[in-house]
Amino acid sequence: MKRHPGISIVALATIALVLAAQWLCTLAAAGQSPSSGPPGPKYIFIFLADGAGIPHMEITRKYNRVVYNEGLVITDKIMKQGALGLLTVDAADSLSTDSAAAATALASGCKAKVGALGICDDGTIPKTALEMAKEKGMRIGLVTNSTIYDASPAAFAGHVSNRRYFNLIIDQYLRLGVDLLLGGGRDQFLPQKQPGSTRKDDNDMIAAFIRQGYTYASDKLELSRAKGSKLFGLFSLQEMSFELDRDKDKEPSLTEMTQAAIRFLEEGNQRGFMLFIENENTDTASHLIDVASVIHAYREFDRAVGMAYEFYRKHPRETLILVTSDHETGGLGFTLSALAEPTDRNAARLTATEQDLKKIASIRISLRKAGEILGPNPTSEAVDQLMREYFKGFTLAADLKKMLLNRQIPSRSIFTDPVIAALGLMVANNTQAYWSTGGHTNHPVFVAALGPGAEKFKGYQDNTDFGKNLKAILEGKRSR
Ligand SMILES: [Zn+2]
Repeated sequence: MKRHPGISIVALATIALVLAAQWLCTLAAAGQSPSSGPPGPKYIFIFLADGAGIPHMEITRKYNRVVYNEGLVITDKIMKQGALGLLTVDAADSLSTDSAAAATALASGCKAKVGALGICDDGTIPKTALEMAKEKGMRIGLVTNSTIYDASPAAFAGHVSNRRYFNLIIDQYLRLGVDLLLGGGRDQFLPQKQPGSTRKDDNDMIAAFIRQGYTYASDKLELSRAKGSKLFGLFSLQEMSFELDRDKDKEPSLTEMTQAAIRFLEEGNQRGFMLFIENENTDTASHLIDVASVIHAYREFDRAVGMAYEFYRKHPRETLILVTSDHETGGLGFTLSALAEPTDRNAARLTATEQDLKKIASIRISLRKAGEILGPNPTSEAVDQLMREYFKGFTLAADLKKMLLNRQIPSRSIFTDPVIAALGLMVANNTQAYWSTGGHTNHPVFVAALGPGAEKFKGYQDNTDFGKNLKAILEGKRSR
């Protein structure tokens, strides 16, 4: 007997149940329950490695593998499990950008002139993604090991025509009510009569923040104990230390600041948070052509991303992690430079090997610290002693030593002290880690994204698209 081709009531009910379950799953995947409105991640992390392009990431990835037999969270977790894109980085008035114009694009989605912060090239003042997040009732935070008023964090929460208007930036942080601020730069918070102040007035901005209900932390211990609804921590007078030189008892690392920020912003929080985390040292060390400091800074950056990845694993449907940069600094490569000094031009080797990475691993201080040890007018004996103590197995070529002692600038770096520049070239011609410039290049930077909304960041885009995508994700969220 032939069976009836029609669908039974039981089968129809089963299909309806399956469809309803699929709908619920789709909502859940987007981080939402059916009653909580349109999709959108509850927790958003924006990680920025200042001045770190693909070469910086790749040298660190190789270094981790060769020296520690470890991977990188950024490549092995975020990129592999999430989406990957490239961002063009030019500014409105220049093919290579600075942190202010680039961070304006990332934070607000418009092109800006070099030096302008939170103001578009056409003069309009855009709403930043962080300001939008605040309006949506999310808690907002800025973490950096630069000065807290430096261009990259400032472009997310401030609007000034010149990135050097530090006082205005600090006033704008206070007005916006950024829930968490962690970084360096106490100099701009102290009244001018206090030692270390670089203010031109008598305003005590630490007191002003405390009056607004902020808890203040000045070192690692105070940060670990801090409680309250708003937190600000200033851990150095100016930029915080390179990871290689950091006093691990007093100064928190980028990872420790990230951990503290997550703990602080998550507590008793129904509406989620947006947290911006920057490692500035990747840029500063690149300007100083200091490859060891760059690698240690990038390793620390990756550990901080690891904290967010752990958080993501607990809240995978509600957490978006974005990892990017503002520009590449230095044109770093493991190949003899076309502009190498006479000493190097006759070198037998053109490219680096894994042995060179191990050699870099033997460097235990930054070149900035080495420059401080030598002082501005070092003697020949002092240079020899520095080489013996800190650069075992490295050779300082005779012509380079002569340049160092004569304070002759041995490269066209406009940023670097001649003593540090000579040491940077010494490291380069011992390891083949050469720099093509002391400034910013126009290389595109990568963006790695993981979590709900990550696919928006895929492909070849402009840095303004990053800001537009971020704001579109926030627009999809319900207002408070
Ligand atoms: Zn820079």
